[in-house]
Amino acid sequence: MARILIVEDDEDIALVLTMLLQRNGHRVSSAPDGPTALRRAHEVRPQLIVLDIGLPGMNGWDVLSRIREVSDVPVLLVTAAGRDEDKVRGLRGGADDYLTKPFHNAELLARIDALLRRADGAEWEGSDVTHGGLVLSPTRGVVTMDGQDVRVTPLEFRLLAVFLRHVGQVLTPAQLLSAAWGDDSGTGQDRVKFAVLRLRRKLGWEEASHSPLQAVRGIGYRLDASEDAHI
Ligand code: CA
Repeated sequence: MARILIVEDDEDIALVLTMLLQRNGHRVSSAPDGPTALRRAHEVRPQLIVLDIGLPGMNGWDVLSRIREVSDVPVLLVTAAGRDEDKVRGLRGGADDYLTKPFHNAELLARIDALLRRADGAEWEGSDVTHGGLVLSPTRGVVTMDGQDVRVTPLEFRLLAVFLRHVGQVLTPAQLLSAAWGDDSGTGQDRVKFAVLRLRRKLGWEEASHSPLQAVRGIGYRLDASEDAHI
């Protein structure tokens, strides 16, 4: 039995797959699009992901690369027939196996079993990221500051993870919207401003002039590398 996340926008296919996997003893969650998939993945930390490439909005490639930033969870890519170039791209991009629609249930189950066996119980193993007294644990989905739990929303968690991956680098609101919200439209940049303000408050970094999380006027935001001075 394993926790499996199905990422599929076609409701009928998602339902059929869910029932099939449940009948085979797995615990299944599903997501119809990329942003939902990433949220679910953080919540349930699946042991395997079945990922459709053809998704509306954020496509399967983007979902795959975002997942690979935080986990080595086995990913089985599913793509439309006749797109063999997807296979190479998928395997290069960190997918573990590849299946072309339409496929037989037995083949899907066999591949899933093989992946789970090979992964040998590997779960979300992104190691903790630390920054001074701050610890972000992708495995447990929690943030602590000086050992105390900090309650953050899944969005704030993703936003903080983005800053921690790019310490010292100025990130534009558009980059942050894309990386943390999964929104490539570049509009609604006030969302970033308010989320940064909330994060600062929750982390005890609200003192604007000394905050490690700085607004860089006219450009964006930066998490300072000189952590010891601040935290
Ligand atoms: Ca699809």
